[in-house]
This record gives sequence, C-alpha cells and structure tokens, in this order.
Amino acid sequence: MRIPDIIIAVDGYSSTGKSSFAKIIANEFSFLYLDSGALYRGVTLFAIENNYIDDKCTIDAEGLEKALGGLDLHFGENGTYIGDRCIEKEIRSLAVADKVSPIAAVPQVREFVDRKLHEFGSRKRVVMDGRDIGTTVFPDAELKIFMTADPMVRAQRRAAEMQAKGENADIETVLKNLQERDYIDSHREASPLAKADDAIVLDNSGMTIQDQLEWLKNIIAERFCQA
Ligand code: C5P
Repeated sequence: MRIPDIIIAVDGYSSTGKSSFAKIIANEFSFLYLDSGALYRGVTLFAIENNYIDDKCTIDAEGLEKALGGLDLHFGENGTYIGDRCIEKEIRSLAVADKVSPIAAVPQVREFVDRKLHEFGSRKRVVMDGRDIGTTVFPDAELKIFMTADPMVRAQRRAAEMQAKGENADIETVLKNLQERDYIDSHREASPLAKADDAIVLDNSGMTIQDQLEWLKNIIAERFCQA
C-alpha cells in the first residue's frame, strides 16, 4: 500500500505498545521512526548521572537547564546516544523509568526535546510516538492515534519484555510504575498527556501487532487512498 507524505502521531498511556506499533508502521510504509520517550529517558539518565535529580525526585531545574545546552543527545545506529555512548540499555531500566515523568514535567526539558523532535522530524513520512505529539509537538499531523489498554495487560507485557532482557521485574512493581507515570503525565502543567480531539483511539488489550496493523491499514485506505 502506498501512502502520501504525512506525519503520523502515536500517543497514549505508558506501556501500551506505542513504540512497537510505531516501528511496525515505519517498516511497513518506509517512514522514519522517532521515539520521543527515548529522549526524555536520555535526559533523565543524564540528570541522574550528574546529580540534577536526587532519590526523592527533587530536581535542580536551573542546573539541568544550563547543562542541557551541552548535552549531545541523538539517535544513532543502535538507538539513543549521548555523544558516542550508546545508552539504549540504561534508559530502559526501572531506575530511569522511576524518574522520567518528574523530569519530563520540567518545561525546559520539554522545550529541549521538542526542539530535537522538530530538527529530526522536519520532513514528512515520519511516525513519532509519545504523549503530546498530536496535541503539542505536531498538532497538524495528518494522522493521530491515541493508544490505550487494560493496565494489567500493559504491566504483564512490560514485565515479560524486561524479564526477556534479563531484568528483574515483578508485575506489581511494573504496574505501580506505569500507573504513577500515567498520573504524572496526565496531570502536569506543561503539555500533559491527552487525546487530541482529532485522534483515533486504539484499545489494543486483546489485539496482536498484526491486528493493529490491519486496523491501521483500513483507516489509511479510507482516509488517504480514495480514488
Ligand atoms: O514512551 P516512554 O514510556 O519511553 O516515555 C517515557 C516517559 O517520557 C513518559 O512516561 C513521559 O513521562 C515522558 N514523555 C513525555 N512526552 C512524550 C514522550 C514521553 O512526557 N512525548
């Protein structure tokens, strides 16, 4: 299926499979995939390692803002990098997941990430996943999807994913983390997680990734491929 040059925004709750879905879309339609959460996670790792956030999640926002000017955070061959150091494994840890939502609520951090997303995504044929892509980052995106799923299903999927990578993850801890993140993400002042008015909801609780791709293809055929 050929589709026109558009931006696809995939937003939604934590661990709903946004990035897996966005990657499949990118692969199917030869789009560029941009993982905005990875950038927030990268800033969080940087903040932890340089003591801009402590164990109680108190943030030195002023110090962090100054330091962001010198932070070379980007995507490379194996995922997310700071300079030439690949940080893909570290940013997926629970230690980073625990602190990412407070960091992502800092307005200066959001400006930093938004700027990067606009740099990377300044052309069309891009699929981007996050929390505020369809509402704030690319409000004119031609196709917006808002993903949700039953919290227990999400926790089970994420715990299985982490266990497969050899990480310690019990379902209760993962469930608590994703519920906390959803709460902070939805209630922060700066571009909170919200469904854009023109986004289409995808509840994938009982769907495989193939089911989701079929669902999307039908929507694309209806919207963009009419003769
Ligand atoms: O998508 P992922 O779970 O990797 O995102 C990690 C965190 O980054 C989210 O819980 C949220 O706090 C933040 N985030 C955000 N806005 C985005 C993408 C991610 O606030 N567009």
